[in-house]
Amino acid sequence: MPHPMPSADNLQRHATGRLLLVEDEMTLAGPVMRGLEEEGYLVDLAQDGVEGEMLALSETYDVLLIDWRLPRMDGRTLVERLRKQGYSQPILMLTALRDVDHKVAGLDAGADDYLTKPFSFEELMARLRALLRRVPQTASATLQPVHLKAGPLEMDTARRRVRYGPTTLQFRTKEYQLLELLMRHQGEVLSRSVIAERIWGSVYDVTDNAIDVTISGLRQKLAAAEPKDGAITVETVRGVGYALHVAGG
Ligand code: CA
Repeated sequence: MPHPMPSADNLQRHATGRLLLVEDEMTLAGPVMRGLEEEGYLVDLAQDGVEGEMLALSETYDVLLIDWRLPRMDGRTLVERLRKQGYSQPILMLTALRDVDHKVAGLDAGADDYLTKPFSFEELMARLRALLRRVPQTASATLQPVHLKAGPLEMDTARRRVRYGPTTLQFRTKEYQLLELLMRHQGEVLSRSVIAERIWGSVYDVTDNAIDVTISGLRQKLAAAEPKDGAITVETVRGVGYALHVAGG
């Protein structure tokens, strides 16, 4: 029996994502949440900066929408704290029209874009779509946070933390995403075009050099922290691609 074709409406709804709105003014948050939910987004609300940080780090969101003026912890501090902890999802900052300096300060703190209040819903949707296009598939909310393991290498995707034997490793965002992709596909060889699509969004958005630099950065950090009970390496499979190799242990 043939599968029924999904309607255009269903396709639209599946194309959206999961969002966290951090905003204390319910006169703004209420209508924005309802509008986003009508567009098919799943939206969580945090009403102060502390709750926002807790939710952002414990749940998986495609984009964060953070207001500048918040109780308990202001939006700028929240963005700075998240970025310092390695949080790499896109962040859209909401600022009031009178606070012109906040735009630059918000971007400096690590926000990807900002929107000036009052904004139209169409404007918000356009910014969100642009940010969602940048979300790499490995970090999408469609994947549940999990604990990944390859020999002595362990990754906690909810906290974006990697332990290698006794050592906690620090990676650049792309290195981390590449390692997560390789760990999720243990035993498989990933081609450069698959790596480009999954981490950079498309083969057209990345140069060969950027892929090489990311792979060699990942290799160096793994080699530098290699524990006694086994080694994890990123092997080149000539003419095919790359694979995670677990030796010893
Ligand atoms: Ca506010």
